[in-house]
Amino acid sequence: MALIVHKYGGTSMGSTERIRNVAKRVAKWSRAGHQMVVVPSAMSGETNRLLGLAKELAPEKHSAQALRELDMIAATGEQVSVGLLALALQTEGLDAVSYAGWQVPVRTDSAYTKARIEAIEDVRVRADLQAGRVVIITGFQGIDELGHITTLGRGGSDTSAVAVAAAMKADECLIYTDVDGVYTTDPRIVPEARRLQTISFEEMLEMASLGSKVLQIRSVEFAGKYHVPLRVLSSFTPWDIDIGEEAVSGTLITFEEDEKMEQALVSGIAFTRDEAKITVVGVPDKPGIAYQILGAVADANIDVDVIVQNVSHGGRTDFSFTVSRNDYPRALELLQSKVGPAAGAAEVTGDPRICKVSIIGIGMRSHVGVAAKMFRTLSEEAINIQMVTTSEIKTSVVIDEKYMELAVRALHKAFELEYTPAA
Ligand code: ASP
Ligand code: MG
Repeated sequence: MALIVHKYGGTSMGSTERIRNVAKRVAKWSRAGHQMVVVPSAMSGETNRLLGLAKELAPEKHSAQALRELDMIAATGEQVSVGLLALALQTEGLDAVSYAGWQVPVRTDSAYTKARIEAIEDVRVRADLQAGRVVIITGFQGIDELGHITTLGRGGSDTSAVAVAAAMKADECLIYTDVDGVYTTDPRIVPEARRLQTISFEEMLEMASLGSKVLQIRSVEFAGKYHVPLRVLSSFTPWDIDIGEEAVSGTLITFEEDEKMEQALVSGIAFTRDEAKITVVGVPDKPGIAYQILGAVADANIDVDVIVQNVSHGGRTDFSFTVSRNDYPRALELLQSKVGPAAGAAEVTGDPRICKVSIIGIGMRSHVGVAAKMFRTLSEEAINIQMVTTSEIKTSVVIDEKYMELAVRALHKAFELEYTPAA
């Protein structure tokens, strides 16, 4: 008997019919002798609907007080889901009970709309499991020190599920979603993209942070910190598929570079259009200049991603960096009106039509020339690289947005990602 956590996304919970299917699947696992904890999302579209209502009444920037209310509102979506799923399971003849975050409790900090989980008490849940109940816990929400309801940020149910699995020391956390695993890249762009049987936790972390939307990044961080065995799989297989087959489907996120790992130089390609580039032209090249510019940007609460500083000519240099596209208008205005002139810049320019394409693979650690192959591939397609950033296991380039799909396809081919690597 194992303790298993299932997480179902909004699409999987999208209608009463689908919830019935989830219940049948969970019942199958329970009848096979496993202790089951289920963490569902709100029904698809529900969180958007709720936040849309809030926006009608308060369209402007939100005060701390208003953020608290947003969480009060948004958290209801998951409360409906857990209740419905518990009913459906009871109809299947199982003993099932649902809990909101505060009832468990799932304790978080007070950063409304983006709270972090601090602790999960397992006493109540364990008692239910002992009594033979399936326990269903709301995703996405928790409670802070003052007893206020909080939410974990969009897509936060992944993190709830992994955190519950960590707290309960579950044998595995299965994330059921509308795709059947983690792919080498987005199959909508590269039809030859291949589902990975396994991916290392570090690669998954890069994939999630570099644009792949399969898992919320915090959930991967959590899995890494607590070594939660995590599997991403489809909720669209028939519910009565053989449980042994189901248990090994999808993509397993692994922790050791063991023999189960596929051996590839590059495991996947991620991309994002969510960024924009700002260039501060002709600032004096002297100590403190990067701090003067980026410090002011950080003070305005704007996150900076890729940074490039050029060599200086005649004591002056150009300084480029990317920010999230949402922050771009604000960042450009700040730099053009204040920070640029104060730093002695000749000019501040910006370009929101960029994208970032990244190759990811722990194989890069032990092989040289991977980045060079990336650059060669892009040059063969006559794609100009504007910025580069690397880590041990990834290389990212910033290029013109209009070449994004071309770049991803060319790289997928160059690194032969459509083929399973030889063991
Ligand atoms: N319902 C929340 C959202 O739509 C959390 C989740 O689904 O993971 O963002
Ligand atoms: Mg999701």
